[in-house]
Amino acid sequence: SLQATTTLSNGVRMPWFGLGVFKVEEGAELVEAIKAAIKHGYRSIDTAAIYENEAGVGQGIREALSGGETGLTRDDLFITSKVWNADLGYEQTLAAFETSLGKLGLEYLDLYLIHWPVAGKYKEAWRALEALYKQGRVKAIGVSNFQIHHLKDLMETAEIKPMVNQVELHPLLTQQELHSFTKEQGIQLEAWSPLMQGQLFEHPVLRQIAARHGKSVAQAILRWNLQRGVVTIPKSTKEQRIIENANVFDFELTSDDMEQIEALNENRRVGPDPDNFD
Ligand code: NAD
Repeated sequence: SLQATTTLSNGVRMPWFGLGVFKVEEGAELVEAIKAAIKHGYRSIDTAAIYENEAGVGQGIREALSGGETGLTRDDLFITSKVWNADLGYEQTLAAFETSLGKLGLEYLDLYLIHWPVAGKYKEAWRALEALYKQGRVKAIGVSNFQIHHLKDLMETAEIKPMVNQVELHPLLTQQELHSFTKEQGIQLEAWSPLMQGQLFEHPVLRQIAARHGKSVAQAILRWNLQRGVVTIPKSTKEQRIIENANVFDFELTSDDMEQIEALNENRRVGPDPDNFD
């Protein structure tokens, strides 16, 4: 179900499925999307300081929980945010965390991530995440856009191993090597732009697989994430698509479907290359 969780290396349970809100501006559309998602069973929301929408995410959460109609409390939700590149540093990252928490209007985060592996900066930022984790301000800590070499480098000095790595991952960028490495290390892999920002819906192989199961291409891709053991956070603000995307717990891809999707890999990105981005 939508509430199914993976257990992170520290025992914290993280939903396999969540809502991403990249490029959604503050305002009614965002607040309504958060409320719709929670109403339809989503428990996990992925935001970031750089999205400049943490306040709206917080408002959506408060409105969804208020009145008690859902019977849910803050503890039933899993909220992720990320520290931006300009704030990487021990003191700066601690301050950035407080700012994010303040905008969200929350007492704690479930997951806080280093957004990009900016060379020479992420180790100090990681010390700050470790401190926040030890203080109980955040239930789990992780990274985003880290390649294998970044993870190895970080783990040389880290006291606490990252619990999650959130990376661009979709059928044209399947991240098989990174996936094997993170599995070995007990780091949960999470897919961003799982739908390649809408660029895969006409793909003939994906259309064929989806049609065979009576599902949409979006549903086939998201199901592939889950069956591979990858957490996924597709973005939509439209209630019908929020419902559609999450309707992936009533069918199963065959091993042949899975292999066909893996074989689509072209190492093609929609986002920046982590080795050349700061
Ligand atoms: P996505 O792959 O989730 O695609 C979203 C787009 O697909 C939307 O614009 C929407 O119009 C369309 N769409 C969604 N569901 C659909 C459906 N059922 N039918 C037709 N169209 C549909 O792209 P994304 O937003 O880039 O990625 C998801 C989330 O990942 C983001 O919102 C964000 O939270 C996170 N993210 C993280 C990073 C990072 O660096 N860590 C970078 C990008 C995104």
